[in-house]
Amino acid sequence: MTLNPRNRKARDIELEVSEPATGRVEFPLIGTDRKRVEGLDVACIIPLLQACPGDETESLFACADRTRKGFVGDSVHIRGIIEFSNYCVRSCMYCGLRRDNRKLRRYRMTPDEILAASENGIRSGYRTIVLQSGEDPYYSASDIARIVEGIKAFGDVAVTLSVGERPRSEYATMKAAGADRFLLKHETADAELYRRLHPGASLETRIECLQNLKGLGFQVGSGFIIGLPGQDIATIARDITLLKELDVEMAGIGPFIPHPDTPLASYPAGDVTMTLKALAVARLALPHANLPVTTALSTLQKDGRQLALSCGGNVIMPNITPAKYRELYEIYPDSASLKDPEDGGIGEIAGMLKAVGRGVSATKGDTLPREKRPIPARDEASFQ
Ligand code: SAM
Repeated sequence: MTLNPRNRKARDIELEVSEPATGRVEFPLIGTDRKRVEGLDVACIIPLLQACPGDETESLFACADRTRKGFVGDSVHIRGIIEFSNYCVRSCMYCGLRRDNRKLRRYRMTPDEILAASENGIRSGYRTIVLQSGEDPYYSASDIARIVEGIKAFGDVAVTLSVGERPRSEYATMKAAGADRFLLKHETADAELYRRLHPGASLETRIECLQNLKGLGFQVGSGFIIGLPGQDIATIARDITLLKELDVEMAGIGPFIPHPDTPLASYPAGDVTMTLKALAVARLALPHANLPVTTALSTLQKDGRQLALSCGGNVIMPNITPAKYRELYEIYPDSASLKDPEDGGIGEIAGMLKAVGRGVSATKGDTLPREKRPIPARDEASFQ
């Protein structure tokens, strides 16, 4: 594998990689149609992730931005997230909500509180409500189903759930109640690393849950963490191809941020540029997907939202959890979302988007089924 730009103009950059089938792949894939880009495999992705600072990286980001524009347009979907419980039965080595973190004060919102926060969000203009929690069996599938029905009764809004691993039958109950989408990150595609970071859990089970969700008709989101101790660049490339194999509609890619009350407290945070490069490559590999700007990225980088929006991102998820609970949902310290106003700052976001030539989506932001996806005009579909 060679990587050889040496200060040439961005449009002239070539990243070469030996590839048995086609000999070599050029970057930024000048004149290549989207099918070839979507066919990226691990050997092809690694050099993109190794793009050097300067022209190469800029070229990758610009390519992802054009792809985003061509396939999902300039509108940004704004989803209001309510973090309704910080109880968790898991002990993920990186997460501040882990069961073994005895220092954290725990809370659960009542169904009425969740519905009130959802109604406020909908009044503020959100067309998707995301309900997230630690993995907390206190809420049965029918409890969640009733909450979903309650939110749906407020109007024409989508509901996304992110409540962890459950049996297929429980996901079916939630789907039958009207839940539209489900977020469950695979976290890392390296099965051995997954096992070490998630005691008592397995990547295999995680993937089975994602497949069950897909089979039930949810729009499914997965994603992974950049900078986990033990991860290397090949792992990240594999993370991206796994997203493709799972045929996800959404993918969240954020940096690891160490939490002082976890076993990974002393490890460095994930790299912001690598997070942006992974997001950009994910956009090339999954051009139709909804790719959020993660809060973890905005936490490490003040202008993280704007940067991620220019590298393939097209979704923002402001925090609309009632203020009294927010700082208790401490996945990692000093989350950027603590600064979000009670309504998530939807007005400020609209202003920021306008300033960067984007706009707030007027739709719920569903990912269209494969057969209904428009095929962009040739000049939008290619990456020149
Ligand atoms: N329980 C649900 C689940 O398992 O999908 C959702 C809640 S979980 C707290 C939400 C996400 O937080 C995880 O998918 C993980 O990627 C992220 N996360 C947790 N700790 C983190 C950390 N220290 N740095 C970055 N992301 C973290």
